[in-house]
Amino acid sequence: MKTANLLVLPGDGIGQEIAASAISVIAWFNDHRHDSISVSEDAIGGAAYDLHGTPLAEATLAKALASDCVLLGAVGGPQYARLDYASRPEAGLLGIRAGMGLFANLRPVFCFDELVEASTLRPEVVRGIDLVFVRELSSGVYFGEPRGIETLPDGSRRGVNTHAYTTAEIRRVSRVAFELARQRNSRIVSLEKSNVMEAGLLWREEVQALRDADYTDVELSHMLADNAAMQLVKNPRQFDVILTDNLFGDILSDEAAMLTGSLGMLPSASLGAEKDGGGRAALYEPIHGSAPDIAGKDLANPLAMLLSLAMALRLSLGREQDAASLEGAIRSVLAAGHRTGDLPAAHGRQVGTRGMTELVIAALDSAG
Ligand code: NAD
Repeated sequence: MKTANLLVLPGDGIGQEIAASAISVIAWFNDHRHDSISVSEDAIGGAAYDLHGTPLAEATLAKALASDCVLLGAVGGPQYARLDYASRPEAGLLGIRAGMGLFANLRPVFCFDELVEASTLRPEVVRGIDLVFVRELSSGVYFGEPRGIETLPDGSRRGVNTHAYTTAEIRRVSRVAFELARQRNSRIVSLEKSNVMEAGLLWREEVQALRDADYTDVELSHMLADNAAMQLVKNPRQFDVILTDNLFGDILSDEAAMLTGSLGMLPSASLGAEKDGGGRAALYEPIHGSAPDIAGKDLANPLAMLLSLAMALRLSLGREQDAASLEGAIRSVLAAGHRTGDLPAAHGRQVGTRGMTELVIAALDSAG
């Protein structure tokens, strides 16, 4: 029997409720499967600030580095808005991403047939969307130097950020995208603005060179990021794996997420370098925040969290079949018309976080 070590960081607001949902589902797998998952829990974000005066304690980061992967709920809340930036919950999130060396952010965007009506776009446009963003996470304009706001001799001010990428930074995230493409349909579209930016031209050249050297079986095309913004709403089904930098990935993956119209449904993974003993540093989390407006009311949709757990089972724990069972259970609950309040009502039951979790577990039970 293999035992995997999973660190769960519930965080703040609905993070607590959806983490409890994930832990119940892990308990089901532990009861019904040969291999087991050992769960430890710790605080991050506002919860960690309340306990330790910092949004990410050193001991928590050490536990994250020692675990097979991390499952995170969400951080943030209005009660922390008065704090300086370094103490805010969001600094805990940035800190753990940096501390674990996570440089590739994977955001699958798919539309369950049962939820096509939840989109603001027409059903025929969104039906069958199944794409993944691979966004570079630790370089580019959010990190480049010089940066800052300076006062000019005439008293006016100038804000500066630097958009910079090196060969190594482009290639390591591109490799993740090429490997992922091989597990899907062997197609990648790489996005940049090579028509107006040198860093974009380098991005295009390096991605192409890597493909020509090591991934000739993968079909690579290039698209300008502004065109991609338009194509994503015009014909999103043309895309499979989308590779792009930190800035464009931030903006375009949010745009793509909303194609499916359901913030409470979308998971993500952030991956780091391969470890010596095999595997990668990895953190899985829903794309939504801590939703303080509904926190503590048993209203949160736990499915983005459970789909993040499915990604962890597949990508970090090597349990493809269990990942597929969990996704299948979620699909069958939706097909039966059961919904949390964030989704348009259907013919089944309206349920809360706990009710939805129980339905998913019942569907796992039925499938065996
Ligand atoms: P949010 O994603 O928390 O909420 C936006 C809206 O969507 C709210 O109306 C909320 O009730 C709803 N919603 C979100 N997730 C839901 C779910 N699972 N089920 C049902 N409804 C859901 O974004 P926000 O309101 O802009 O931010 C709230 C806090 O979360 C802020 O402090 C922000 O900094 C933080 N935040 C954290 C993360 C993260 O931890 N990764 C991401 C985004 C925002």
